Amino acid sequence: MEQSEGRKLILFPLPFQGHINPMLELANILHSKGFSIAIIHTNFNSLNPSTRNPYFTYHSIPVDLTETEVSLKDFTVLLSILNAKCVEPFRECLAGLLSDKDPIACLISDPLFDFTGSVAESFKLPRIMLSTGGAASFAVYAAFPLLKEKGYLPIQDSRLEEPVMELSPIKFKDLPMMPNCDPEDFYQLITNVANEPKASHGFICNTFEDLEGHALATIHQEYYPNIPIFSLGPFHKCGPTTSSSSTSLLAQDQRCISWLNTQAPKSVAYVSFGSVAKIDQAKFLEIAWGLANSGQPFLWGIRPGLVEELDWLKVLPNGFLEALNERAHIVKWSPQKEVLAHPTVGVFWTHCGWNSILESICEGVPMICTPCFSEQMVNARYVSDVWKVGLQLEHGIGRGEVERTIRRLMVEKEGEEIKKGALKLMEKANLCLKEGGSSYQSLDGLVKHILSL
Ligand code: UDP
Repeated sequence: MEQSEGRKLILFPLPFQGHINPMLELANILHSKGFSIAIIHTNFNSLNPSTRNPYFTYHSIPVDLTETEVSLKDFTVLLSILNAKCVEPFRECLAGLLSDKDPIACLISDPLFDFTGSVAESFKLPRIMLSTGGAASFAVYAAFPLLKEKGYLPIQDSRLEEPVMELSPIKFKDLPMMPNCDPEDFYQLITNVANEPKASHGFICNTFEDLEGHALATIHQEYYPNIPIFSLGPFHKCGPTTSSSSTSLLAQDQRCISWLNTQAPKSVAYVSFGSVAKIDQAKFLEIAWGLANSGQPFLWGIRPGLVEELDWLKVLPNGFLEALNERAHIVKWSPQKEVLAHPTVGVFWTHCGWNSILESICEGVPMICTPCFSEQMVNARYVSDVWKVGLQLEHGIGRGEVERTIRRLMVEKEGEEIKKGALKLMEKANLCLKEGGSSYQSLDGLVKHILSL
């Protein structure tokens, strides 16, 4: 019997897709190590009951957001409303779980849920943070007070193309920002997030040494020397294999896999900007023409709400899709991991959410990067300039550049090196999970650490 048998862990994901996926993947990993798992989740973006893990217990807390709140453009305001609404229901739920007979080893929560520290502390319950983004972007978050002190923030338009010397290879234009937010509020949010690990019993990152060893060392040495850090990613390849539909808030449309089956190997450009990013109608049209003119088949994820203020079909000229015939396939929400693992997918045009990047790396699929907000610009810089497994659309979305970039990567000689690089990185991602690999060892370390709390 494993020592962890019977020890319970409570995991509390932030209710957004890019945060839910890694938290539930981590739950699967830790369950496979013998822990029993309780998931606390909000009514808002509630987890689908039909796809839940039968071995976990789920505890819904009555936290809902009104339609007006959900459609708030300012993410810092939305988050502060969510946090304020969560505190008491979370405290009550935790009190109930702690009164159970099973001993609870710790709480694992998201640094954006800033109230979990004080609530856990009031019950003397150890808390471990899970960063659902990359280590490099967290290092940039942690450097925010320094950037402020140096007068770099708010970012000045005249410096956008300059490198930030302290954060090579990051440029000023890559620094995290959020559209529609007061820069001062955003600065405060990031500073709070970066302070969260300091008051925790450990810090888990969904990344791996060969990918972000340097950033992991920086985080540890410069910012959190007393906090144990565990990098056991990529999570979705680390635990027992589960269907990605089990964590999805929207139903995944499997029909696109049948369409992919009809395409030639490595010929398809898969396009998705994740669960939150929005684009305006003009950009949507440029993407559509760029894809059409590239000559490559494409699978395009257009989730409800991706295009601002209008039904996307009305943005396209009459007959646009019909003229492309079988070369284009549109899906609202794809089974993305399966799509990226499909042999006919040759390129992923992504908004550079961290999960999307890891999923692409794990399948050796090179990327085209259009970062939209927050840490996505940092991620994109690493994809193009550090790991060299993709190209950025540096000058915005214009149909000519889209067409050229797809062809550079998929058809022309220039793409060969990038494709080779992507395959090499995929091998490294596989190796770190094997016995003796860095993520394998880090997981062992995490299990021991939890048992020692
Ligand atoms: N995803 C999916 N189907 C889609 C688009 C995305 O299942 O059509 C999943 C994707 O596999 C990833 C998550 O949604 O795990 C998006 O997370 P990411 O960090 O990439 O971006 P975010 O949505 O947080 O901006």
